Amino acid sequence: SVTAPEPTGARVRLRAEIAALPPYRQGRPAPADGFKLSSNENPFDPLPSVQAAIAAAATEVNRYPDATALRLRERLAERFGVSPDEVIVGAGSVSLLAQFILAAAGPGDEVVYAWRSFEAYPGLVTVSGATSVQVPNRADHGHDLDAMADAITDRTRAVIVCSPNNPTGVAVTADEFERFMARVPSDVLVLLDEAYAEFVRDEASVDGSTLIGRYPNLVVLRTFSKAYGLAGVRIGYAIGPVEILDAARATAIPLGVTGVATAGALAALEADAEVELLRRVDALAEQRTRFRAALLEQGWAVPDAQGNFVWLPTGERTAAVADRLFDAGFVTRAFPPDGIRISVGEAESVDTLLRVLEELVEPSQ
Ligand code: PMP
Repeated sequence: SVTAPEPTGARVRLRAEIAALPPYRQGRPAPADGFKLSSNENPFDPLPSVQAAIAAAATEVNRYPDATALRLRERLAERFGVSPDEVIVGAGSVSLLAQFILAAAGPGDEVVYAWRSFEAYPGLVTVSGATSVQVPNRADHGHDLDAMADAITDRTRAVIVCSPNNPTGVAVTADEFERFMARVPSDVLVLLDEAYAEFVRDEASVDGSTLIGRYPNLVVLRTFSKAYGLAGVRIGYAIGPVEILDAARATAIPLGVTGVATAGALAALEADAEVELLRRVDALAEQRTRFRAALLEQGWAVPDAQGNFVWLPTGERTAAVADRLFDAGFVTRAFPPDGIRISVGEAESVDTLLRVLEELVEPSQ
């Protein structure tokens, strides 16, 4: 018989850069009677028809899903005027981001993105083995696309553009984006992350759905987590050239998209359901606009907000302000030493939040 070796005290050798990587942060749970405004979630309960579709799909979970989600891809393809092969579905758009980065970049390669931007990007790039090149946002907290184009080198394999940008809220304009694309070499993958697209109300903003088919190197990513209120089942999608999507299908962890998730997404796209969901999005976008206007009035230098969240540039006071908000019952997302992101959630949270924030404002913030 084989005996296990004596423990030598030697540690398993892990990749040093992975061992050093902080895990993805989730917001703290909301205190009793408080509000969780830290994850840009949709505050509305799932529609009854969506819950029913998910419950029905749950009766089949003894079987593996059709993880290619063909029916959902067909639905989305119809909507965006492409073929189902030009649509990929993933376990949240964060999973798709990982797949595309793995498909394009590895050790020795570079991935360019703005900073601050979505917290997951640095980790995903590190996991791929590639190097992050972070380009500071402009003073107005929007992407500096000129500087991002300047940052592209022979080693660049992908550029991520986040519009509206999480966590600062500013969207890239269509003009800016097209000028940028004209400067990006066509063999460099551009990932346009539009997780918050449905909340955009500034008509000058880029809308990736109008650019599909225009560039051989452009992939547009969207999600059911935010506007469609399905964050808990994990489903997102991307649209782009088949060859790039095939590479991302190859880097996927097999069977990551569940039948429960695709059933929820299909139900959310049913005509009546979608009308209701987009009505909620309208209400949230309006609430965001009012919330930002009230904050500006108080003296906060809140940048333009096109997602379902606003950005408070609290600087060195970030942790202190976030703690005060937490004590008042509001879980927010602090990014010291830059600022605090506050999701636009339950309508009844706004007045109290504004009362608390009025006492915390300081000139120049
Ligand atoms: N992109 C951005 C900019 C995001 O903010 C998020 C969610 N916080 C995602 C992608 C991922 O969303 P999901 O994986 O839930 O689709």
